[in-house]
Parts: sequence; C-alpha cells; structure tokens
Amino acid sequence: MRSWTSPIVPSLDDLGFGRGPAVEVHDTATGALVTVDPDHHARLYVCGITPYDATHMGHAATYLAFDLLQRAWLDAGLTVTYTQNVTDVDDPLLERATATGIDWAELAENQIELFRTDMTALRVLAPDHYIGAVESIDLVVDMVGQLDAAGAVYRVDDDLYFDVHADADFGAVSGYDETTMLQVFGERGGDPERAGKKHPLDCLLWQAERPGEPAWDTSLGRGRPGWHVECAAIALEHLGTGFDVQGGGSDLVFPHHEMSRSESVVATGENFAHSYVHAGMVGYDGEKMSKSKGNLVLVSALREAGRDPVAIRLALLAHHYRSDWEWFEAELVVAEQRLAAWRIAVDRPEGPAGDDMVSALRAALTHDLDAPAALRAVDQWAAGAGHDPRASTTVRTALDALLGISL
Ligand code: ZN
Repeated sequence: MRSWTSPIVPSLDDLGFGRGPAVEVHDTATGALVTVDPDHHARLYVCGITPYDATHMGHAATYLAFDLLQRAWLDAGLTVTYTQNVTDVDDPLLERATATGIDWAELAENQIELFRTDMTALRVLAPDHYIGAVESIDLVVDMVGQLDAAGAVYRVDDDLYFDVHADADFGAVSGYDETTMLQVFGERGGDPERAGKKHPLDCLLWQAERPGEPAWDTSLGRGRPGWHVECAAIALEHLGTGFDVQGGGSDLVFPHHEMSRSESVVATGENFAHSYVHAGMVGYDGEKMSKSKGNLVLVSALREAGRDPVAIRLALLAHHYRSDWEWFEAELVVAEQRLAAWRIAVDRPEGPAGDDMVSALRAALTHDLDAPAALRAVDQWAAGAGHDPRASTTVRTALDALLGISL
C-alpha cells in the first residue's frame, strides 16, 4: 500500500565529516550488544500497527527508535531497505469495528492515513515497502504451503496450526522457559487452552471463516491469515532471508517475533533475521499505554492542540529506546524549551565549532542508539561560545541527519 514521504536526510560526508562508524544495538536473542554492519546494504523489518488508536506515544517511540537506526546506517554510508507491515485484518481490529459500528475496512483505512500523517509530521523515515496483510494473502498461502511441505502444519477443525517444535531452536528469540511462554502466549492473543492442538504453544496460521467476519477464498479454504505468518511472509518476500534487524516493541518478543522466526526458519531452512531489537513500553497514568487500557496520548491530539511536532520528537528522544518510561505532559514543555534554546544557538552568526558535537552524536547513536546522550551533547554545544562561522551549518546538518531534528 502507499507509504508516506520521507524527509530528505542530509549528508555529513558532504560537509567533510566522512562516514560514521558501524552501529551497535542490543540483540534480544543473544542478550548482548551486536554490531549490525552489513556490507553496503542494510535490511530492516519493523512490525507495523494494527490500525486503530493510531498513533499513540508508544507507537511513535518505537518507530522513532528504528528511524534512528536507519539514520546511523545512512551516516555510515549504507543503503537501507526498510519494510513495515500493516495488520489490516486481525481480531482486535474487527472487535473495535464491531464495538464502534464502523466497517472494519473503513476503520483501517482512516487509521492508516492518520498514522501516515503523524509519521510525516514527526519526520520518521518511510518504509520502502509498506505492506498490508490483506494485500499479502497470496504470500501467506504460499508460505503455509512451504510449512506444510516441511510437515509442520496440522488442522484443528478447519483452522491450520503451526507445530512450533518443528523448529529445533524454538525459543531462540525470547529465551523463555515453557512456563513463561505459556503464560505470555495466553496474555497476548494466543490460545494455549484450545482443544485438539498437538501442543498448547502451537500457533494459528490460517483461520477459517467465522460468521460475520471477512474471509478470502484460497487453496487453504475460505478464511484469513494468522498474524505471525503474515509478518514472516511479508519480511521474506520484501527482504529475503537473513536480513539484518527484526524490530518492534518489547511486547512483540513473544509470541510474535518468536513465532515469525520459527515459521520462517522451518519454511526456508535459512536464518530469518540476524538481530532482534526491541523498544521499551511507554506508560501513562501508571500503566502501559495501550489500546486495551484506553490510556492513550495520541500524536494527532497533541498536533491539533498546536504542539510543535519537532518538540514531540525531541520529547521522545529524551528517553533511551530500550527503557520503559512514563509520559508526562511536562516532558513536552521541557522539549519545547530545549528546542527553543537550540534554535537560538544555531541562529548565532558564529558559535563553538561543531566537530566535537558531530563526533559525540555519532558515538552516542552508534552505541545502541543512545539518543539521550546525543541530546546532552547538543545541549553542551548550545551552551558554549566560540567563533566558528560554519558552526550553524554543521549543527543544523548533524541534527537533521542523525536525529531527524530540523531547526
Ligand atoms: Zn510483525
């Protein structure tokens, strides 16, 4: 489906600063910092929204984290191919449509458009491939066929299930023991209690048509795809096997990323992603910000209230992407003040040379996307005094290229 328009990313190399260093990020699967330094071409998959309640601050923080990763890769001179999906048919979307009396397809379309508008306002780099589940039904059918050929598919009534233990390394992403897996699976949309399954953790690949729900005629029967296989099929089609980073919020570690990895490995016999990178959860009013709890702060509401999207972006960047944190209105005020101070600083006819700040920004971002450290480096530059007439150009370019902050 249609993506949105990316902001132009300026080049520090063009200003004589050369290329940035290779990027290190925390990999959930190994629990360690890993260098994601592919040869010339980086491939990234980030799980997209299920289109309702878009775009809350938790969503925005997640997509911003992977925006920083892309900016660090671009600064290092790499080409980036970025794929993001939209789960535009799934249980939560259909439940919301029913609850509000809105047609599910119309709800999805409106929310996807709102998401595009918010991402554009926040200057988040757009995916090269923005792919919906509905437009990927054939891909899913093909992948279920591959899994079936590998002997990893079985039927419960008219639904198709994936035998997770067909993958000898099932659990490689989360590292959870079975007790934890069972508990989390039940909490996050799984069906460990369903009778007729070979193993309680086996997950749905294809759901046969339910009364009143959308369904598609395929060789698997009339129905719709499961969520995990949707992402696996889209990632493989648009990035291939062994891509660099699978990303998303930390609530996707299990079962979603675990299942997608296992399905892909069993279907292809090859590695899915090299690294699994997860953003923390954003809370509000003492709880995780989520659609199910209804405690949402929406980017669009802040924009409509006249708040500067650049300040919203800066408020999000004040938190390390992997930390869980709570949104307070006051954070936006702090960000607005910080932004005003930076704008005054770059408007000076001359200032302290920006070279050290560029180095500090690159060091911070390539060390597990440490945006808070990067902001401190800019604060330090802005508070200093100097006589470099090029300082303004250097700093504006560096902030735009590496942090997506346009002064
Ligand atoms: Zn996904």
